[in-house]
Amino acid sequence: MQRTLFRRGCMLRPLEVPFRYLFGPGPSNVPPRVLAAGGRGIIGHLHPEMYEIMNDIKKGIQYAFQTQNNMTIAMSGSGHAAMECAVFNTVELGESVLVAVNGIWGERVAEIAERMGANVHIMVKAPGGVFSNGEIEKALAKHKPVLFFLTHGESSAGLAHPVDGIGDLCRKHNTLFLVDTVASLGASPIFMDQQNIDILYTGSQKALNAPPGTAPISFNERACQKMFNRKTKPVSYLFDMAHLSNYWGNDGQPARLYHHTGPVSGFFSLRESLAILAEKGLEESWRHHKEVAGYLWKGLEDMGLKLFIQNKDLRLPSVTTIAIPEGYNWREMLQYIMKHHNMEMTGGLGPSTANCLCITTNMNMFINHCI
Ligand code: PMP
Repeated sequence: MQRTLFRRGCMLRPLEVPFRYLFGPGPSNVPPRVLAAGGRGIIGHLHPEMYEIMNDIKKGIQYAFQTQNNMTIAMSGSGHAAMECAVFNTVELGESVLVAVNGIWGERVAEIAERMGANVHIMVKAPGGVFSNGEIEKALAKHKPVLFFLTHGESSAGLAHPVDGIGDLCRKHNTLFLVDTVASLGASPIFMDQQNIDILYTGSQKALNAPPGTAPISFNERACQKMFNRKTKPVSYLFDMAHLSNYWGNDGQPARLYHHTGPVSGFFSLRESLAILAEKGLEESWRHHKEVAGYLWKGLEDMGLKLFIQNKDLRLPSVTTIAIPEGYNWREMLQYIMKHHNMEMTGGLGPSTANCLCITTNMNMFINHCI
């Protein structure tokens, strides 16, 4: 029987990638050193040299998170992979989960927990709202959750949520404290161990300036106790920490066994971006982000624009949000900026879509150009 082939079409054209200034909340422009690391030749994901690189990544994450947790890895996947890994491993069917929703990321985690059959309770504030420790403690006492979720850097609102004291409250109520730092790590201080955060994750593509596709995550002893003493297996095979801890050499076994093929090039880039952060030093990175954000805030306010988060101390240095001036169509403004200035900026997300525009300064590259 004679078969006809579909046409090859656009695959015969060379790849075209325009240069863009990425001022949206991820991905960020990637410095040449990190791009070059990702362009190195591939080695096997189970080669000893790859294990060394993964060991370096683990050390780099421990520094960036300020933790000594052994159970520290990078997920093969974007920030959502880390989000799902955290929830899937620590929560079992029917268990109570409490989620602080003040932007899209709480909404997302609530949905993830709901999909896996958790009994989800939400505390809701308008985008950019701050939960007091008193409000959190009341909800912990009422819902007795096994897990409480809070976004440190709420990128959809431009908020850096205070974290101090919440870990202690979670301990008191026998709850694990899960914090999302996808948009804030490297830009806004976080001290995983000292702030008693049980599970912390981030993404590669924001202030770390690596390509998207890998996501650091760390679990402390309390979290390990819960996730390795489950009655049932986690719903995801790929995100099962029993397997991932072996793949990352964290389970004390002499051999690392095949579980999945990790993103080798992504790990090279992540390793290099963590090395740049370590060379620069966290304090310097935080200072730099704050300084650049300060210039941006002043410039915007001098132009008569209103920032979405009014309290300066609560603004996320990596993601600045502008209240959309009345009478303006934000989609048209963003299209204009892209067309005439080659710059990506974005609108809000989820509940903040109609209210704010996001501009990020979460790029070391951008910062290095400016200062
Ligand atoms: N959390 C926050 C705070 C984010 O800003 C993002 C990405 N915009 C995510 C989670 C999800 O990360 P990803 O798109 O890498 O899955």
